[in-house]
Amino acid sequence: DDPAGGGAAGGAAEVLRRVFGYDAFRGEQEAIISHVVGGGDALVLMPTGGGKSLCYQIPALVRDGVGVVVSPLIALMQDQVDALRALGVRAGFLNSSQDAAARREVERAFRDGDLDLLYLAPEGLNTGAATRLLEQGRVALFAIDEAHCVSQWGHDFRPDYLGLSMLHERWPDVPRIALTATATTATRDEIVHRLQLQDARRFVSSFDRPNIQYRIAPKNEPRRQLLHLLRDEHAGEAGIVYCLSRASVDRTAEFLVAQGVPALPYHAGLDAGTRARHQSRFLREDGVVMVATIAFGMGIDKPDVRFVAHLDLPKSVEGYYQETGRAGRDGQPSTAWLAYGLQDVVQQRKMIDSSGGDVAHRRNASAHLDAMLALCETVECRRVRLLAYFGQPSTPCGNCDTCLQPPESWDGTVPAQKLLSTVLRLHRERGQSFGAGQTIDILLGRRTDKVVQHGHDGLSTFGIGEELAEAEWRGVVRQLLAQGLLTVAGEYGTLTLTPDSAEVLGRRRQVMLRREPKRAPRSSAGRQR
Ligand code: ADP
Ligand code: ZN
Repeated sequence: DDPAGGGAAGGAAEVLRRVFGYDAFRGEQEAIISHVVGGGDALVLMPTGGGKSLCYQIPALVRDGVGVVVSPLIALMQDQVDALRALGVRAGFLNSSQDAAARREVERAFRDGDLDLLYLAPEGLNTGAATRLLEQGRVALFAIDEAHCVSQWGHDFRPDYLGLSMLHERWPDVPRIALTATATTATRDEIVHRLQLQDARRFVSSFDRPNIQYRIAPKNEPRRQLLHLLRDEHAGEAGIVYCLSRASVDRTAEFLVAQGVPALPYHAGLDAGTRARHQSRFLREDGVVMVATIAFGMGIDKPDVRFVAHLDLPKSVEGYYQETGRAGRDGQPSTAWLAYGLQDVVQQRKMIDSSGGDVAHRRNASAHLDAMLALCETVECRRVRLLAYFGQPSTPCGNCDTCLQPPESWDGTVPAQKLLSTVLRLHRERGQSFGAGQTIDILLGRRTDKVVQHGHDGLSTFGIGEELAEAEWRGVVRQLLAQGLLTVAGEYGTLTLTPDSAEVLGRRRQVMLRREPKRAPRSSAGRQR
């Protein structure tokens, strides 16, 4: 043990080469490792694929005792431990998936000092059994992986993480290292506060992934758009297509297979054997397209994923960033493509409204959705917006859709007034609220059964919106939602006005809208970078 950490840093470089087979540290790894080896606490923010694991694995090997890793990813512990054992590291895990005999053997190894690393699920620490065990051996450090799970305002809160503040109280002399790939400045502060990491040194790596080209397109014909991306830009390459529901995963995978794309489905509704088989084909074969719910991807380390496509709107910017971050870990040009439409917004609001949680929880989910919408509807550089969300200032990147093909904006005040006033009239004159479809039918002067049945052809706004096509009206609705000038709620996705709508209706506020792009930008422009 070397409390100063000076000599130990040499030990760390030696472990890096001998155990892990790497020649050099990456980015901030060396600074982080020598800080933790020296006994200091650390908060590490590094994007996915940045190399967080070595930041606690090497100090655990260099320091006396066992490195205790708290991780919520129970399903991955076995793989992580197997991978470490293959390198000759003495690793074990304790979680609910284990039988009693396996558990006893790991506990014995811990007590006898026969382990370098012990992976634990956070709930284990809250039951007291794991705490008693830890008191019977020597702990080299605590690594708190996916530390953003302690944040109630984050997108992935896990109540069991709150109990981790006791680590500091019970083992004040054991260094703690908290790691995450997703944290806004607010989440960061909450991690520090909840885990009592006030004295921890913060290591913040750049969150930029310059080789990823970010593109967000209006969802017109999602299957045709997806096929275009796969065939014209990424033929024969590996990628992930994310869908919101299991049913749409199955349908999309079937569609792609019928089109000759080697696609496989992955979601929690498939049995474990099928999931494992599909995952291993994705990892081992070339050019497999995984169609998946967000159940897929955590801890998957495949360097040459060339694209990540979202067919549905992610629930938060954090989630979007984490999922797109699985593309291009090898540093080669890659695409993050998202198609989103009005229906996504309606559906997600519905899910939030009908979710059982308390008011604060729903408000939080709403704020996450709003931030995601703002990213979708921005006329600025996507990367600038994305990095700003994580507290990192930057300048336009030249490698996203809005940089490559700056969207035109146009004065949409009059269409916005027409739409808002239709919503207002339905409410005031009829005491009704309707969804976007009916509202647009009224503006376009369509005498559908539903319009006639409700006598909506008698409204003064009937047929006053023929200057725009239906798709353009849907764009107007989406952007008014993103700008907070309209809200959508309830099971039927009904539109209602917001306090700010009055400013538009009263001609006190101009509404600038983004023109729908006519054609998708080509990725070749990004490859020149
Ligand atoms: P994270 O947990 O931040 O997503 P990982 O710890 O899984 O990232 O590391 C991502 C990949 O980079 C892994 O394949 C890992 O082996 C590799 N890696 C990490 N550090 C180095 C290094 N110093 N040299 C070479 N490869 C590294
Ligand atoms: Zn850009």
